[in-house]
Formats: sequence, C-alpha cells, structure tokens
Amino acid sequence: MLAVMKKEKAKGAVVSDAPIPSIGATDLLVKVKAASICGTDVHIYNWDGWSSNRIKPPMIFGHEFCGEVIETGNMVKGVKKGDYISAESHIPCGYCYQCQNNQMHICQNLKILGIDVNGCFAEYVLVPEICVWKNLADMPVEIASIQEPLGNAVYAVLAEEVTGKSVVVFGCGPSGLFSTGVAASSGAYPVISVIKHEFRRKIAEKMGADKILKTGEDQVVDEILNVTNHEGADVVLEMTGNPDAIQQAFRVVKKGGRVTLFGISSDPVSLDIANQIIFKGIRVYGINGRIMYQTWHKMRSLLQSGKLNPKPVITHQFSLSEFEKGMSAMTAKDRKCGKVVLFA
Ligand SMILES: [Zn+2]
Ligand SMILES: [Zn+2]
Repeated sequence: MLAVMKKEKAKGAVVSDAPIPSIGATDLLVKVKAASICGTDVHIYNWDGWSSNRIKPPMIFGHEFCGEVIETGNMVKGVKKGDYISAESHIPCGYCYQCQNNQMHICQNLKILGIDVNGCFAEYVLVPEICVWKNLADMPVEIASIQEPLGNAVYAVLAEEVTGKSVVVFGCGPSGLFSTGVAASSGAYPVISVIKHEFRRKIAEKMGADKILKTGEDQVVDEILNVTNHEGADVVLEMTGNPDAIQQAFRVVKKGGRVTLFGISSDPVSLDIANQIIFKGIRVYGINGRIMYQTWHKMRSLLQSGKLNPKPVITHQFSLSEFEKGMSAMTAKDRKCGKVVLFA
C-alpha cells in the first residue's frame, strides 16, 4: 500500500510502499478515505526536540482520518465490515485508574495513533475497536476526517456551558478557529477571536467571530476589556501555547470566570497566581484529547444541527501522494492555510 513514512531520524518524510497491516483480535482494518494534517505531524516532519525523543522510525504517521472498515478481528463485536468510521487517536489501556474512572483520554499507558503506533497517512490503517467512532452515512469525508481536532475544540469550549457568555479565543490555527465556531454555535456572545495571521481573519468571521482582534499588539487586553464592559470575559480559551497569550488570557478573564488551556508552550510560563487565579476566583481547565465519548456525541449534535460548520477551516485538499504539497501549505510563512485534507 501507499504510505507516508518517517523512515529516518531526520527532517522530512517519504511517500513509499508499505505492507498492509495484519489484523489482531480486537482490531479493525480500515481503508482510509481522507486524512488531515495536524500541527503534530508538522513537528514529526520537522524532527524537532519533541518528536526526536518520542518517534521511533521507521513508522507511518497521521492520526486524523475517516475510512471504511474492510476487515474485523475475531473479538470485535460492535463494528462490522463496511462501517464508515473515524477514530479516537488516544488509545487507552483499559485497566489503569483513569480508564476505570471515565478518563480514558488521559490513560496512564496512553498510546497515540500515528505517534506511538502506525498511523493513517496510508491506504490502510489498523484501529483498535475501543477507538472507533461510527459516522453517519451522509457525512462528507473531509468533515469526517477532521473530527478528532474539532473534538479538541468541542471539549475545550464546552468544558462548561457558554450560552449567553462572553468568550475570548486566543489563536487562529485550526484549534482556535474550530473553537470560535463551537462557541458561536453554542450561543456564546460576544465571541472575540484574537488572531495572528491576517489570512485567517475571513475564516474567523465565517466561523462566527463577533469581533476580531490582532495579537501581538499591546492594546489587545484593553480592547477585550472595552468589549466586555471593563469586567473581562466570562470564558477565555487559550489555543496557542504562546506565553504572552497565556498571560493575557488570565488578565482578560472576568472575576469568577474560567480559563481553558489547550495550547502547548514549550517552556514553563510564569503566572501571578495570587492575583490572577486565587483572588479572581476563577477556574482553570487543562484540555488533552476528547472525553471518550461524550465529546464525540456533543460534536455530532452540533454538526447535525447545522449550527456548526467547520468547512471554512478546510483550505486545501490533495491526494495522499501529494503529501509534500500539503506539508508546504502547512508550513508556508504567510500561513495562508487552515486545515489540509489528503484523499487516499
Ligand atoms: Zn492532531
Ligand atoms: Zn489506561
């Protein structure tokens, strides 16, 4: 089969031939229809500090996809040949404390598809049954392929209710744009989107942002306070990992509000915990993955209602063999790119 492989411990990847994986008792063999490129895949491609410690070449990467079940292992019960599925990329062990307490997404022995085991940038991928999400038949494949990252946004935004609340979203990458859409479609007002790349302003508008501010400008905090009656926002979502944005998030949250952190900073960030968390009486959430499977059910409702339309975030579509073109779009300096979908 055709596969995008990380063959060497170095920058880059190759589109090459690989054996079709052989199935285990609790696995499904899935024919990939569409897969999307994540920021994590860019890290793996670039072979940065994180990926060189975690990834063991040769391997196939990619973890966001949809496809059709071709074969089922002999212990698989709930999925059958022909099912149209997407998948959780977080593979839980099933027996640790977290797995036994409805927190499989942060399993102690967590493996991640396309990071710790072979992934979906290929014609076929193996998926354990516990990770399967069955799609409705009429879902377009490009939408089905981006549910894993969209689910991060659903979890981040809806960690608490947002209806009738002011929401600030820091970040205009796919996670930030998806979060803007989830907040707007869930009845938040106003939704204030703080963006870095001008190209993404239009996308943020289409996702339902009521006000768009440019990051990196000192007045961003003042502007948010102006828009929120000088009280600050009820909800602040930090989707960038940028230390300045993280600090601004705590400055613009209302007393008694909440900050949700999803963006990953490469270094520790210092915060004025006394003044910005304790005396403000706020709640802080860390978001990793998606709650299995409450988040997926919420996402299905939002998508089916037609209120949440993630399509504007998908800016590029290529075939799997054009992987390099997709990676170039993702890493271009001007970031004239949202989500890139590859068709297998
Ligand atoms: Zn991802
Ligand atoms: Zn576990």
